[in-house]
Amino acid sequence: MEKILIIEDEQAIAELEKDYLELSGYEVEIESEGTTGLQKALEKEVDLIVLDLMLPGTDGFEICRRVREEKNTPIIMVSAKKDDIDKIRGLGIGADDYMTKPFSPSELVARVKAHLARYERLLGSVPRENTVVEIRGIRIDKTARRVSINGVEKPFTTKEFDLLTFLAEHPNHVYSKDELFREIWDMDSIGDIATVTVHIKKIREKIEANTAKPQYIETIWGVGYRFKV
Ligand code: CA
Repeated sequence: MEKILIIEDEQAIAELEKDYLELSGYEVEIESEGTTGLQKALEKEVDLIVLDLMLPGTDGFEICRRVREEKNTPIIMVSAKKDDIDKIRGLGIGADDYMTKPFSPSELVARVKAHLARYERLLGSVPRENTVVEIRGIRIDKTARRVSINGVEKPFTTKEFDLLTFLAEHPNHVYSKDELFREIWDMDSIGDIATVTVHIKKIREKIEANTAKPQYIETIWGVGYRFKV
């Protein structure tokens, strides 16, 4: 459930906004004072903030600025004074939307929905760090846990996947079987370093064109293995 933080000192307005947003399926929390509101906005994982401009303690202007320094959480700023809205819009302090009070609660809900959807699209379009490892025709999608070789997907067991991913993420580094076993298998798991050899063999059967002459995972005799780049 998406969480919305309302920072608003007028209790009646805050409660009305909360009711409408809860009816639309959101989890809502109210903060009626600026400084605690800012603290909550920075510390808690909230999906959107409805922020009043004039507040006791820290005002909405300052809260918006401070939140923006750390987070991209969508902020809808509300004020009773249209002039203030025009002023802060002009200053470009980073709120995503502005509403002049009084507004209809359903208008607020519509805007909340639109901004959450937009924010999710934005997050979805930003590639998350290190989720795909690509080396010479091998593509490892860590999020989906899929491996494809030259565009052809191959099935991998959990440990085969973990072992291949670990080696591919540390190319040119030589690891002993002991190190690999400790890295990939639980300390108390049944098995020994021979397991590593067996898994390397299975991985090679899937990724190498010729397992007798491996192009990816190289055996360093007497030492261990490394992923060639
Ligand atoms: Ca106020």
